[in-house]
Amino acid sequence: MKQLKAHFLTTIMTKMLGVLIFLALGICDTAVAQQESLRLKYFGAAGWEIQDGNLTVLIDPYISRLKLGTGPGVSPKDKRKTVERSDAYVSDTLLIDSIITKADFILAHHSHFDHLGDVPYIAKKTGAKVIGTETSCNILRAYGIPNEQLYPVKGGEDYQFENFSIKVIPTLHSALNDKHYIDSRTYTEVPEAPLKVSEFIEGGSLMFLIRFKRHSVLTMGSMNFIERELLGQEPDILLAGVNRSQLGLYKYNERLLKVTNNPGIIIPTHWDNFRLPYGFSQEAGIEQKLIPFKEDVKRLSPKSKVLIPEHLKTIIID
Ligand SMILES: [Zn+2]
Repeated sequence: MKQLKAHFLTTIMTKMLGVLIFLALGICDTAVAQQESLRLKYFGAAGWEIQDGNLTVLIDPYISRLKLGTGPGVSPKDKRKTVERSDAYVSDTLLIDSIITKADFILAHHSHFDHLGDVPYIAKKTGAKVIGTETSCNILRAYGIPNEQLYPVKGGEDYQFENFSIKVIPTLHSALNDKHYIDSRTYTEVPEAPLKVSEFIEGGSLMFLIRFKRHSVLTMGSMNFIERELLGQEPDILLAGVNRSQLGLYKYNERLLKVTNNPGIIIPTHWDNFRLPYGFSQEAGIEQKLIPFKEDVKRLSPKSKVLIPEHLKTIIID
């Protein structure tokens, strides 16, 4: 009888142990799956937060979304203060604090306010390392960001960091003003802070190929590119510049998709009206810019999947 009881107890304990191990493995599995998927949160304009495990990389994080000027881009329902290009740039620090808590790296495509305006505050607050042009780095120095935090680049660099690598790619700014745009100014010395909105000059333009553990992401901050600089790059995720100015370029979608070897996932970027605060409808942009783009991709690269991002929502890619 005693033997039977002992056997019964051993069986129960073995079974319980089995259940515990199964549960522990299950929890680990879920944790590993979450750790391994790439998470992309859209900030609007050309701004992104990309997380791979514990690594957080921000791209052109523009959160303040200034109510700039009085043109058709602003809404009478937006009760914020109107800002002019001749005004000093002021970040909405409360809003930034509610959205950004941590960053290891910030990548800046160019130095216009809708790309770099909030970077001085975010770099100071998070201590993130910033990769950008000499102009971007000099603007950040003006706001007291130390050299140890800055990686000035020209395009062509290919840098290995602890858990990822970044290839910096030279590119062209969007062909604004119906192709009449060019701005060759740079800051070769540190300007005086605070800068006016208009003093966030382009300072040259970059793209980035970010190689994470299981995914590579090619980022754009403008609606333009230099075809030969993209030859041989085969990202699995493309953040494609989509707005209006690319419509004046020769076969933009076709050349972009072909030279990047038809990426599996394509996410349009810099397509929204960034003069409107978060929470305002962006339906017009989706209908007029993204739906035609999606249709075109379907025709040109049927296996590619176009994902339409929403402000402050996260896209998870396994
Ligand atoms: Zn720009």
